[in-house]
Amino acid sequence: MARSSSGRKKPNVLVTGTPGTGKTTTSSFLAEATQLRHVNVGDLVRDKNLHDGWDEQFACHVINEDLDPLIQIDGVSSDLGLHHLVSLISGIIMGALQKHVCDELEDMMEEGGNIVDYHGCDFFPERWFDHVVVLQTENSVLYDRLSKRGYTGAKLTNNIECEIFQVLLEEAKDSYPEDIVVALRSDTIDDINGNVATLTDWVRNWCPKPE
Ligand code: ADP
Ligand code: MN
Repeated sequence: MARSSSGRKKPNVLVTGTPGTGKTTTSSFLAEATQLRHVNVGDLVRDKNLHDGWDEQFACHVINEDLDPLIQIDGVSSDLGLHHLVSLISGIIMGALQKHVCDELEDMMEEGGNIVDYHGCDFFPERWFDHVVVLQTENSVLYDRLSKRGYTGAKLTNNIECEIFQVLLEEAKDSYPEDIVVALRSDTIDDINGNVATLTDWVRNWCPKPE
């Protein structure tokens, strides 16, 4: 099967990373500089009620904020049988939600010119993106940002561990061709400015692929 990245007149960029690494800040500055469209997938899910009709208890955990639905849902019960059942159900819900969200974005992505801001990336079809940016933040800096955001307990430590183990970078490398994935440091405002400048150059130099 041919990779149908052809046809887009403008590139699609994915900005991913652990919550708090600066995806939304970076994406909104980049959108301003390039006139590409900033698509905040978390907001889209909330605004369009894409999780409507699903059991809030599961769906919210799965789609929003938290990176590991199984660890979250694990808190429901220590009973192994129930744990497996809940894992199975959350897997099914995740699959259905994923399809729903991707269907919603498909036309826009095909058209091109999008900066997609989301804390996951194996979620989206490979053919959608020309560039995948993984933002990374030093652990203690990230800890302070997430605490300020009101994260505590397991939610805080899960996200810090996610950053320590470079979960999003691994996920990006597993999901997209290695030559389109870049990791960028996002510890300071200077980092943001530098990253936005680098990415703006990248967007301006991008050429549509021949059909
Ligand atoms: P994300 O969308 O990845 O969760 P945000 O862009 O919402 O992260 O940033 C979370 C908080 O951290 C915001 O208050 C933002 O101003 C701050 N922040 C993010 N990146 C940086 C950075 N590189 N330097 C300083 N502050 C940052
Ligand atoms: Mn965000």
